Amino acid sequence: MAEATSDQPNSVSTTAPIAPPLTSYTPRYIDIGINLADPIFRGRYHGKSRHPDDLQAVVGRAVEVGCTKLIVTGSSFKSSRDALKLAKEFPGIVFATAGIHPCSSSIFSPSHHKHHDESQSEGEDEAEHTPACDPDPSQPIPDGDGVDLARSEKIIADLADLITRARKDFPSSSSNPGELVAFGEFGLDYDRLHYCSKEVQLHSFSAQLRLAASLTPQLPLFLHSRAAHADFVRLLKEAFGPRLERLEKGGVVHSFTGTVDEMRELMDLGLYIGVNGCSFKTAENCEVVKEIELSRLMLETDGPWCEVRPSHEGWKYLVEFEARAKAAAAAAAAAAPSTAQGQAGTPENQQQQQQGKKKNQKKDPEVLERYKTVKKEKWEEGAMVKGRNEPCTIERIAKIVAGIKGVSIEEVCEAAWANTVKVFGLES
Ligand SMILES: [Zn+2]
Repeated sequence: MAEATSDQPNSVSTTAPIAPPLTSYTPRYIDIGINLADPIFRGRYHGKSRHPDDLQAVVGRAVEVGCTKLIVTGSSFKSSRDALKLAKEFPGIVFATAGIHPCSSSIFSPSHHKHHDESQSEGEDEAEHTPACDPDPSQPIPDGDGVDLARSEKIIADLADLITRARKDFPSSSSNPGELVAFGEFGLDYDRLHYCSKEVQLHSFSAQLRLAASLTPQLPLFLHSRAAHADFVRLLKEAFGPRLERLEKGGVVHSFTGTVDEMRELMDLGLYIGVNGCSFKTAENCEVVKEIELSRLMLETDGPWCEVRPSHEGWKYLVEFEARAKAAAAAAAAAAPSTAQGQAGTPENQQQQQQGKKKNQKKDPEVLERYKTVKKEKWEEGAMVKGRNEPCTIERIAKIVAGIKGVSIEEVCEAAWANTVKVFGLES
């Protein structure tokens, strides 16, 4: 990727008031939260095959834009195992997490009809897989279902076993982080109590925190917190001490949508903040992003969910970024013809895409689409699928963060890269 010219327009934002001088910086990204184990990346939607398995192409597009490392979220037993399999399939690119998402935590309750290991049949795994980050309006599950303690003990023992095996099969070393790089995704989600009651979520989170604290050595934590800040922080402190002083490897609270005060408290506790499209929905969200210290920032797409949309407050920063990049690219092209080699994202190709887009203009015309996007029913090789967010869109996250914070894309990317490499041990 050292020769990639595809991102040059992104870095020449010389008309920005706070932008740095012209540089030849090529952005590099690590997507810390990508649900690549979701069947949607194999062409399966709600249990039905809609198009060919295009996972290779999804990973290929990510690498092409400079997103060379993907931390694939494990949010249940099945998706954690699948994430570990993907790490084998894409060594050095894909790394995995393992844990039980709050929205997958109903396995702890007595009414859950199956043992967690049995939820593998076609169709079943759709629910088993990644719950979307967006709250949905269905009815909450009432409290009172309770926790099946015997079942809970077995679940935690199985999770410990899964982690031990993953670490034994692929041990980390100073030059190799191993395949399993974090404990999680786990936490609390009170926006979506319709998947799992508060009572069961609290049990799931605290039981997993105890396991995470008991590991030798510990793993970094990949955490989820939605509308549950006080309980979330309380349980973290119960497991790791009032200053999280027993948390050896740190952790990230991903897909952050909380308040500035909540974010500051998490940073004060030494935690990192993961930002994706859900973090830019409102002006208040963007104010929070502005206050995230670069030394605590991580970037993610949370694909297939959480894409940045034109209706989001953050979109305007993308428009501004693209406008500056286009103007700078035009100026550069006028000064000296490009020598780019016709890659997907070269200036020539981007221009073609813009022209193509003009013919078919409906919305968001100001923002470049690096890759053609089609509906799943009209899937074609090399195209992205409408509504299925994927890791190559991480450059949008970086651009928006840069715009909100008034810093360069280079500062954003390098800070996030360094933070991520440090916490998850991805040195090699
Ligand atoms: Zn999450």
